[in-house]
Amino acid sequence: MADATIEKVNVLIIGSGPAGYTAAIYAARANMKPVLYQGLQPGGQLTITTEVENYPGYADGVQGPEMMVDFEKQAKRMGTDIRYGIATKVDFSGHPLKIEIDEEKWIEADSVIISTGASAKWLGLESEQRLNGFGVSACAVCDGFFFRGKEVAIVGAGDTAAEEALYLSKLCTTVHMFIRKEQMRASKVMQDRVLKAPNIKVYWNTETDEILGDKTVSGVRIKNNKTGESKEIAVNGFFVAIGHQPNSDIFKGFVDMDEAGYIKTIPGTTKTNVEGVFASGDVQDKIYRQAVTAAGSGCMAALDAERYLSAKGIH
Ligand SMILES: Cc1cc2nc3c(=O)[nH]c(=O)nc-3n(C[C@H](O)[C@H](O)[C@H](O)COP(=O)(O)OP(=O)(O)OC[C@H]3O[C@@H](n4cnc5c(N)ncnc54)[C@H](O)[C@@H]3O)c2cc1C
Repeated sequence: MADATIEKVNVLIIGSGPAGYTAAIYAARANMKPVLYQGLQPGGQLTITTEVENYPGYADGVQGPEMMVDFEKQAKRMGTDIRYGIATKVDFSGHPLKIEIDEEKWIEADSVIISTGASAKWLGLESEQRLNGFGVSACAVCDGFFFRGKEVAIVGAGDTAAEEALYLSKLCTTVHMFIRKEQMRASKVMQDRVLKAPNIKVYWNTETDEILGDKTVSGVRIKNNKTGESKEIAVNGFFVAIGHQPNSDIFKGFVDMDEAGYIKTIPGTTKTNVEGVFASGDVQDKIYRQAVTAAGSGCMAALDAERYLSAKGIH
């Protein structure tokens, strides 16, 4: 860690999704001179979707990538120093907090806002990637509305999959739910609700072979892994609900997390167990996972950081 390459900053924001950019807007307006590293996916998860209809303020809806360009512009206009780069390591054992960027330089920060998000897990099919945003989705709350009165399919067996299937069952005519094993992992109460829903059809021992469709989803080919029997079902939407992976690996050993890797924050705040380190957005939220909740917690993180620095007499 050569001294010549160490830069000192007040507040370092890691991540450029709705949480990171919102934290940047608030931190810059509080004159905290934030530096933000965008990571591998500038703009975050919304850059891989099409229409966003549930973010307040866009009365006619907006394309995800376009919305994130707006976020970036606003953060820049307020004075955020936005940089392309990845946080590759951290050392939060003392103060100042140390963050390595691109495995080449170290930054010393008085406070850090972690907004590194989470990534949806996918099945890994070529057709799933090709039709992503065109009928394939990993978020029923985000995209279920587009399939009102239509038939959809969902893959997954946990509590989230059960919740998403139930959410879709209130909008769609039929929800075909594919489960790889002969039982669900979801809690008993969630299983009961799914099995009792009149328009959720559960297929046990069932795997997805292919999602069908040229430009948009038109169906799915499934296979029973016990009998080998294959069949096609016509659906307009295909939802993948096999879990999310929070992007928190580099903070392990310093920041407290749950067993899935979600960063733990003190309820009602964005404070982590490390003084001066705050977490916002999907990396600390396995329940809501929406752009507006991520943005809201980004605002909280900037305010928490401002109060922390102010109490320390640093800002
Ligand atoms: C296909 C799809 C459609 C969706 N549609 C909607 C919708 O319609 N409405 C809605 O409200 N929500 C929607 N969501 C959910 C929404 O995208 C997320 O809730 C939101 O983006 C979370 O924001 P975030 O800032 O926490 O993280 P993310 O958007 O995940 O951004 C994380 C950021 O962290 C960066 N990063 C990660 N690791 C590092 C690192 N080591 N160093 C530097 N940077 C790093 C990434 O590059 C990225 O910029 C959708 C999600 C998906 C996947």
